[in-house]
Amino acid sequence: MNQYILIVEDEPSIAELISVNLTHSGFEVQIAMQADEALMSIRERTPQLIILDWMLPGKSGVQFAKDLRASDLGKTIPVLMLTAKGEESDKVAGLNAGADDYVTKPFSPRELIARVNALLRRYEVQADNKSATVGVLTLDPASHRVHAFLDTPKAKEILLGPTEFRLLEFLMGHPERVHSRSSLLDHVWGNDSYIEERTVDVHIKRLRSALALVACENMIETVRGSGYRLSKSSPKS
Ligand code: CA
Repeated sequence: MNQYILIVEDEPSIAELISVNLTHSGFEVQIAMQADEALMSIRERTPQLIILDWMLPGKSGVQFAKDLRASDLGKTIPVLMLTAKGEESDKVAGLNAGADDYVTKPFSPRELIARVNALLRRYEVQADNKSATVGVLTLDPASHRVHAFLDTPKAKEILLGPTEFRLLEFLMGHPERVHSRSSLLDHVWGNDSYIEERTVDVHIKRLRSALALVACENMIETVRGSGYRLSKSSPKS
């Protein structure tokens, strides 16, 4: 079955340009003109990826991405954000809202397709990946779930976006070691030259925020001048 992509874009000419190019590359495509329509579409059929315009009438793309990440339905769908804004702070705002990557308008269709493929590759679950446990955290790649086993009768599930999940999966697979930003980019994002090293910091921050809900944020240590390390016990406790 073809991979299915939802385009959320209110400008018909751009939506059509993306749609034609994706269809040509073998994807199934649906267009939603605004956030409400997109949500209905996702309820009917879960896309493998969402291309989301920043500037939408009604609910903005940024707000939609945030809502999506907070919902059971959309928390694991990779989001590629389209933005006319080239400012670094806007890129970070988009990533903070829950986007996994962004493309700045005007873009070449070829670049967009390359980014879509890179993002999809990143989320392909390896069937032979085993679950990992570090400290109180357990991660299961098959079900795409992370649990914290605290001093409570039931394990608490930690909800993560797709990039944070991959990041945690890599860190838990290689704990107690320092990983540089460029090494994390290679392993988590793949050989994708478009991504800047600062992107790693944004996703680490998001991962820590999610882990903070189970008081595990200190398990990820910033090693000055080197990168990041996941430790069984937090260095500060
Ligand atoms: Ca727009």
